[in-house]
Amino acid sequence: MSKPRIHILALGGTIATRPDATGAMQMGLGADDLVAAVPRLGALADIAAETVSRVGSHSLSFDQIHALAAKIRSLDVDGVVVTQGTDTLEETGFLLDLLIDLDIPVIVTAAMRNPALTSPDGPGNLVAAVRVACDPWVRRHARALGVMAVMLDEVHAVADVLKAHPTRLDAFVSPQTGPLAALVEDRVVPMSLPVRDAIVAARPRLASLSAEAQPVALLWMSFDEPGRVIEALIAAPDHLGYRGVVLGAMGGGHLPERVTETAKRLAGVLPTVVSPRAGGGPMLRNTYGGASSEIALREAGLIWGGRLHPLKARVLLETCLRAGLDRAAIGDIFDSWG
Ligand code: ASP
Repeated sequence: MSKPRIHILALGGTIATRPDATGAMQMGLGADDLVAAVPRLGALADIAAETVSRVGSHSLSFDQIHALAAKIRSLDVDGVVVTQGTDTLEETGFLLDLLIDLDIPVIVTAAMRNPALTSPDGPGNLVAAVRVACDPWVRRHARALGVMAVMLDEVHAVADVLKAHPTRLDAFVSPQTGPLAALVEDRVVPMSLPVRDAIVAARPRLASLSAEAQPVALLWMSFDEPGRVIEALIAAPDHLGYRGVVLGAMGGGHLPERVTETAKRLAGVLPTVVSPRAGGGPMLRNTYGGASSEIALREAGLIWGGRLHPLKARVLLETCLRAGLDRAAIGDIFDSWG
């Protein structure tokens, strides 16, 4: 039987670093280097490898991920593995998930330990990602699974996965849902399918996207926040070029009392999404009263972010703005995320 055709697209990141003359790790390896380091890949799949960029994920742009999505859509293959940096994998992976709706597995993977260290995780993660891309259960459910992240022998939904530690090997977790599958011995063991109703419902409205970036500011609220950055954003010409704002809010959707009126005025000038800084999870809609509570904020026109982490809410809002959606339509889309 012929092997699945898996296309590896390399973007950069720790997985693709090598030491310079001073010993500092620099982006340098391309897709061919990554594949050559793991001869076992050829036994699993018919591998094609392509270097897309040598950019750390902390410096990737929306435009680069849009171009990557277009490339993935153009490929005639049985599965795609993207290698990139870990720093923004939770954001870029989710953006890919919004942009791609295919019947083949699309997987992002990365490395926490660079190739110069003892036991780097890049080669193992790449093999694991290719194994997942070739797995019959994954291939059968590819559309239902959406874009996946494979790290440390676990398969995560990119809508849920978070980088929860800056340096540990086991940095990636899906706190709300747990992983979708685990790699054990020679098996990919399925554990759950993600609930994707919100993304499926949003797709038709996100079908036609402007090429023009729609910058979204992410402002993390903390106790006793005076709101001066928000004031400056409201007052600045063209709102500093921002087209939307995500507020990382406290608890079930609360802001400090002293910033509330400013936030309400912000919602009058830019689409403003309130999103849970606790790391994602459904917010309250109808429990607390008072000026800074969810009831008052929702009445004042702030968009309720649902269960998405603020980083992912920012990606979704940018995409909604590229789709030219108005405040009401954006509110509907976020609403389906709970
Ligand atoms: N700064 C790197 C990046 O995100 C870190 C990594 O890959 O782990 O590209």
